[in-house]
Amino acid sequence: MEKSKPWIIPVLLIVISGLFGSYFYSQGSAPVVLQPPVEAFDSNPLVLEAATEEPQPQLSEVVLAYCQNPYQTTCNQRWPSVDPSGQVRPDVSGEVRALRMMRTMVQENPNWTADQVQENLAIMIYTDQRRERALKVFNWAKAQILQWVAEKSDVFNDIERQALVERIQAVTLSMPPPAREYAEAVDLITKNAVYYERTSAGELRLRVGGAYLMSTTSWYNMVFTFAHEIAHAIDPCEMKSFGLVPRSYNSLIQCFVDTDWIEEERRNCGSLEQVSEVFADWVASEIFSRALSQWSVDYTPEEKISAAINSTRDLCEQSVEGHTLNLSYHQGPKTRIGKILGQRPELQTILSCPNKTTNHYCALTSMESSQ
Ligand SMILES: [Zn+2]
Repeated sequence: MEKSKPWIIPVLLIVISGLFGSYFYSQGSAPVVLQPPVEAFDSNPLVLEAATEEPQPQLSEVVLAYCQNPYQTTCNQRWPSVDPSGQVRPDVSGEVRALRMMRTMVQENPNWTADQVQENLAIMIYTDQRRERALKVFNWAKAQILQWVAEKSDVFNDIERQALVERIQAVTLSMPPPAREYAEAVDLITKNAVYYERTSAGELRLRVGGAYLMSTTSWYNMVFTFAHEIAHAIDPCEMKSFGLVPRSYNSLIQCFVDTDWIEEERRNCGSLEQVSEVFADWVASEIFSRALSQWSVDYTPEEKISAAINSTRDLCEQSVEGHTLNLSYHQGPKTRIGKILGQRPELQTILSCPNKTTNHYCALTSMESSQ
């Protein structure tokens, strides 16, 4: 008679804890340098396996599907959406986790003041690892936008270029702890939101909700998100407030209108404008393309697509109660993902899209040719 197998349970436990351990670990794993983020493979071996075992014909189908319809391919992706650098989860998932942490903290420390709760919550959510990762991607995106401006010597004159550079350089990334960093926006610690703001003192800064840092570990999503927010420092309406709109912006905005990225009546800065959001998406798609080009050297075609999907995965409608897209300033995802990102020629080249739609993509034109 065969003896019972006492080793089965320990082995099963090891396998299960291995699977879930790596799953949860990947939430906190921070890439060390801004190189192709291959180390993230270690934190999610299942992804690597799936990617390498995929038969070749299917890879090209995935590429074809994204190239033909970036919006649908991105928004039909199941959650969590995984690329070689990390994951994107629904907005609500980070918020639920943050609120649960707060509830547990209040239950375990009934004598704490609201300030003490916020302080400790900020420490728990904005860990060194998460802060470092965000800061690295922020600095990388900022440097790339500066580089992009420097490359446009035929587009911006010296005065314009200097103003753009100064404004980009002035943008900082503000994150707790201490919680008083967000003193007048303390809810942000549990929110999935990232935004740019110009303070009454003229300070330019980005703020990052704690829930965003918990929902998103993908470098590609962070690059797109941070580049979008940094670009607001030089968007047409911010430059108008600053008193210096680069001349080449006029033909760019005209192109935004001509390609139906914005409606004619929403091109002018003011309460109904959408031009600043379209501009920020347009810059972000440029910077994301640079990120993918630099970091995806060893990627399979499918991995490149997963990175493209994750760059804008959170811009989709999310079929979750309480989640609504703010469409008063932003375009809908069909335009943001499908056109502004998806039709960018550089991206289509990196992804090896067979039918490029390069003819109609908006670009800055040199001062000579725009006159
Ligand atoms: Zn924006």
